[in-house]
Amino acid sequence: MIIDGFNRVHDYLRISLTDNCNLRCFYCIPEEEYEFTPASRLMQVDEIEAIAKIFVENGVKKIRLTGGEPVVRKDAAEIMQRLSALPVKLTMTTNATRLHLFLDAIQSSRIQSLNISLDTLNKDRFMLLTKRDQYDLVRNNIDLMIKAGIHVKLNAVIMKGINDDEINDFIGLTKELPIHVRFIEFMPFQGNHWDNALVVTWQQMIDVVEASFGGEIEALERVPHETVKQYRLKGAKGTFAVISTMSAPFCGDCNRLRLTADGKMKNCLFSKGETDLLGALRRGEAIAPLIDLNVKA
Ligand code: SAM
Repeated sequence: MIIDGFNRVHDYLRISLTDNCNLRCFYCIPEEEYEFTPASRLMQVDEIEAIAKIFVENGVKKIRLTGGEPVVRKDAAEIMQRLSALPVKLTMTTNATRLHLFLDAIQSSRIQSLNISLDTLNKDRFMLLTKRDQYDLVRNNIDLMIKAGIHVKLNAVIMKGINDDEINDFIGLTKELPIHVRFIEFMPFQGNHWDNALVVTWQQMIDVVEASFGGEIEALERVPHETVKQYRLKGAKGTFAVISTMSAPFCGDCNRLRLTADGKMKNCLFSKGETDLLGALRRGEAIAPLIDLNVKA
């Protein structure tokens, strides 16, 4: 088992397949010209498989593929297939722009649930937020995934004056669609134009929903390790939640580990320290002791 210095068991690994992305969301990748990690420095398919296997042998039960945009990698389908051979729950976070190209790969893999990022239900606003005209493609691909029986979680980063007027529109989607909408508080990352004035807190979001839906809202039980407080409108097919990373972080029972696209392990999104697992693998060194050292640090 992978146990950290606070006695927390870490059994959930998020693997970034690339830092490259085909969208330019202003709060995530603000610049049009961005220097992405060259392919030679990224973990290759065999390396991802080898490192993931070591994590699984040491107790990891769930793996999430992420990025950047994971499916801009040409070998993303192969990565899904290889990781599907491991005894884990496999899932992915994606902007959905390329999912129509990966339907077969997803259906023949272990992936049964996808987190899809969508910050607006307005086509023009999508273009402003992402600098790409791909709203229709994303909406079609969401429908495609739902029809294929994949459980879809929609992630929307809510920002004051930018899309906070759409909270109830997203909730409206849960009435008819079996999706799980997750509102995310805007988090600061280096160079992402973060501004405290743009943050809409969990409480503020719930206030907005309550003002419109009042007695229709039911609070659902919190799932351990989930960074979310979950709700449902009575009779709705879907559910919704707020990820309160800023206003009420759930660090106490965090079970996550992160692997960057160039094979560096981080034990927190905000941690500065990282351990180069890919370098060690390429030098033929043992990985498991490095994982242990990293979580204990
Ligand atoms: N490209 C994939 C996607 O769009 O889902 C995966 C990577 S993306 C960085 C993962 C998630 O992080 C997305 O849901 C995105 O909205 C969220 N995210 C990015 N920057 C954020 C920020 N500053 N605050 C909160 N969430 C953020």
